[in-house]
Amino acid sequence: MMYIRHRPRCASKIRVQARNETVADNVNPHWNGQFSCFDLVAKTIARPRTIVQVGDIAIGGDEFVVMAGPCAVESERQVLDTAESVASAGARILRGGAYKPRSSPYSFQGLGLEGLKILSKARDLTGLAIITEVMSETDVEVVAEYADIMQVGARSMENFSLLERLGTCGRPVLLKRGMTATLEDLLRSAQLIVASGNRDVILCERGIRTFETATRNTFDVAAVPVLKTVCHLPVIVDPSHAAGVRSLVPVLARAGVVVGADGLLVEVHPQPDKAASDGEQSLTFAQFDSMMLDLEPYLSLRSNADRLYAAAGGFD
Ligand code: PEP
Ligand code: MN
Repeated sequence: MMYIRHRPRCASKIRVQARNETVADNVNPHWNGQFSCFDLVAKTIARPRTIVQVGDIAIGGDEFVVMAGPCAVESERQVLDTAESVASAGARILRGGAYKPRSSPYSFQGLGLEGLKILSKARDLTGLAIITEVMSETDVEVVAEYADIMQVGARSMENFSLLERLGTCGRPVLLKRGMTATLEDLLRSAQLIVASGNRDVILCERGIRTFETATRNTFDVAAVPVLKTVCHLPVIVDPSHAAGVRSLVPVLARAGVVVGADGLLVEVHPQPDKAASDGEQSLTFAQFDSMMLDLEPYLSLRSNADRLYAAAGGFD
């Protein structure tokens, strides 16, 4: 039983859990008593933060890490042009789906292996690391061969056999919050990956489904401080899927920075109007450039957010 195997090794269990309960309780008493379900990812004095290292990129440390690129890999030209442009604007990681989880079975499903090869070529040419989605256990091996970070999409957050398999994939995992998942649900899924052998997990808030229809999803900005207070894993935000329209992406990105996110996942396309998927929420190259410039003055506020989490968690 994978998910209980770690427990016998936890000699200081009682002290650690007591500490965790205090952290959770300081955020919201409702969390108290639930924490044993995600003790491996819970923030403690002994483990206040995890830095996920991807080559020379440290996610969860002092650097604000931007991951940008198209929703889907469509062609070599599209990916190479985007990679070059986002790299020169300051992105460190190139995103792009080769396997696409689409709401309609009749929409573009991605280029598969050919898409992975295009991403890998873009890495060779630009030095950007690659993040791409893995949808199925059977694709884990091939995606891990080409990707630097394995993205688990919102629709797969509770694909438990996939999460368990990612425990031994040898690559960091970016775990997106499910559309109707609570933060507890998200942390339980993260716990499963860690309990299955992989400590390098990054959490991603990408908006949740609510009664609001003005935006594609409702950006839960409170998710960042809650997760950063109770959990030691890095937290990034995806303003593109939260907003659903490109005009709102830069301001939601700003919000992510000031609440202390560790980075961003943003969709950028050379010709958003012609994109095979998520064109309405994709930034043009020029819009991405100006968003990166706009964020600069806010970056110094991230350390203040860190201090607030420490206080909320009873660490100072
Ligand atoms: C994506 O990143 O393109 C994607 C499909 O995101 P999500 O899983 O958050 O819908
Ligand atoms: Mn998308």
